Amino acid sequence: MRDDSTVTAAVMPAPNEPVRLERFPAPRLEPGAALLRVDFAEVCGTDVHLHHGRLAGVPYPLIPGHVAVGTIADLNGRIVDVEGEPFAPGDVVTFLDVHETCNACYQCLVAKQTTRCPHRRVYGITYGARDGLLGGWAEALWLKPGVKLVRIPPTLAPETFIGGGCGLVTALHAVDRTELRLGQSVAVLGVGPVGQSAIGLAALSGAGEIFAVGAPDDRLALARRFGATHALSLDLPREARRQAVLDATRGRGVDAVIEAAGAPDAVADALDLVRDGGRVVICGHYTDNGPVLVHPHHQINRKHVEIRGSWGADFSHFYRAVQVADRFGARIPWKELAARRFPLEQAGEALAAVEARAVAKAVLVP
Ligand SMILES: [Zn+2]
Ligand SMILES: [Zn+2]
Repeated sequence: MRDDSTVTAAVMPAPNEPVRLERFPAPRLEPGAALLRVDFAEVCGTDVHLHHGRLAGVPYPLIPGHVAVGTIADLNGRIVDVEGEPFAPGDVVTFLDVHETCNACYQCLVAKQTTRCPHRRVYGITYGARDGLLGGWAEALWLKPGVKLVRIPPTLAPETFIGGGCGLVTALHAVDRTELRLGQSVAVLGVGPVGQSAIGLAALSGAGEIFAVGAPDDRLALARRFGATHALSLDLPREARRQAVLDATRGRGVDAVIEAAGAPDAVADALDLVRDGGRVVICGHYTDNGPVLVHPHHQINRKHVEIRGSWGADFSHFYRAVQVADRFGARIPWKELAARRFPLEQAGEALAAVEARAVAKAVLVP
């Protein structure tokens, strides 16, 4: 922050317009609110979609950046963590980007799936710049009352958590949805941030064979370091990939598939690779990438397959992601996903690097 009264943020003015810097007044902190000095904010695939106007309900102009780590600069009143411990200026925290989950609607109270609450708002996605400093691509952001904070323990490097970032949280939810059991085989389709984290979490969950399917080769090499036991390039024909999985699973296919590629074809591939009675979890289709042809008799009904979607994340996933990154950050190379850092002034370059797939994700250091 340049002084006490203004904060610089990177703004997407409208879809497909260049990102530019703007100054905003510092928020007035109402009781229960806090000001977070942003230490690291991520630039992920969602931001690329946002830049192309591919998500519904986004109020441009937008300060993107839905996952960030920062230091509490100021707070008004008493804000506590889930243990009841109060936060104080100087604490390093991250926060659940989803806010205003209502705890009053059918989805929240009856179906108990708060990630489908129609009232939820998301920092950096469905809060626009007119709503205030509510995105991570900024020197500081406004933590509104009710935002759920998670303490970054002193043993966890913030770079490790932001390297995992939204991909780690999304993958944790998806791996939960597989209900993976010790020794089971898994195929993860897609080796972007979600896929890499899914591989790492599957390994930590005691998976047996773990197949990484994707491209390019350097990401497949990284997937091996996350814990994949087999790496299958998309350069191989689809049938050759399927045969490789069958060969390594006594002709059965894998117990579970996590689709984290976002390509419609990957959903059809997932149904080919899963064993009879296995489970497919789809978490890569955050935007509408179109339909795909599947054969219900061969690929679903006769195989007795279970297909599950996995949408977003709630506080439990976020909280556990921090604990997992703390405990296993030395073993699983999340930190390397945060290797490319950009200053705020280069947010546009960071976004271009993610879009060109030159990096899996980029990190802004405001
Ligand atoms: Zn609700
Ligand atoms: Zn993200």
